[in-house]
Amino acid sequence: FIQFYVESIEILGVHKGTMLVLRDVTKETEMDRLKSELVSTVSHELRTPLSSIYGFTELMLNRDIDTPRQDKYLQTIHSETERLANLVNDFLDVQRMESGTQSYKKEPLDLRLLLEETTQFYAASTKKHTISFRAMSEALPLIEADEEKMKQLMNNLLNNAVKYSPFGGNIDVTLSIEEQHVLFEVRDQGIGIPAAALNHLFEKFYRVDNSDSRKIGGTGLGLAICKEIVTGHGGEIQVESIEKHGSTFIVKLPLLVERVTIS
Ligand code: ADP
Repeated sequence: FIQFYVESIEILGVHKGTMLVLRDVTKETEMDRLKSELVSTVSHELRTPLSSIYGFTELMLNRDIDTPRQDKYLQTIHSETERLANLVNDFLDVQRMESGTQSYKKEPLDLRLLLEETTQFYAASTKKHTISFRAMSEALPLIEADEEKMKQLMNNLLNNAVKYSPFGGNIDVTLSIEEQHVLFEVRDQGIGIPAAALNHLFEKFYRVDNSDSRKIGGTGLGLAICKEIVTGHGGEIQVESIEKHGSTFIVKLPLLVERVTIS
């Protein structure tokens, strides 16, 4: 984006000429866009959990309620608070991405174990979906990665697979080796993504603009964070999808290169 304006040149109050100033405001325009997206997302996404927490605490304070109902309310308050904490963490991550201060604590990591555990957790927490994990090769070497960030990456992808498959179906997670990389895929049979949206999916705040997606809440930050994590580990993330049939997210990460020391 180029902004231009005319400025008069005056020396000691005497008009000496006119200057045409061209200014590249691409960065400012992008920041303005992000700011207004942030404000509307924050107000929209914070309101739902906040009003739910407010409502349930009020019920608990004012009414004489039995223990089972109290437990139910507390569970809702707990999960809505968790949702708020995740939102705030996503905003902080995006802010770190913007300022280039995101850092990774990379250590040798067994990706298979991590994927197995995350998949089991999701399988236990959904009744509508059949979630499975399969490692395509017996020996899987380590990768060099930040464990917390890898968990966040898997959580975002699995959470989306569940969220965007409102009618249930299979979610298959596979892990394999391809030359010097590990490849893991999260495949769902959900609402899918229109072809025109595929190129924008990893942009901050981007959400598919159709009625199926809009019914399902979100900030449009999860995949931008996934992309940042994957590229921060020297890898790549891709998506393949057919609308109304399902989506597959493919993550490619470099294997740990054993350093040989000669003494
Ligand atoms: P959020 O889910 O919070 O909106 P994401 O960055 O995780 O944000 O995803 C961006 C958009 O990509 C979503 O709004 C949704 O439209 C689409 N999307 C992501 N994952 C899937 C999926 N597994 N199936 C269908 N659409 C998806």
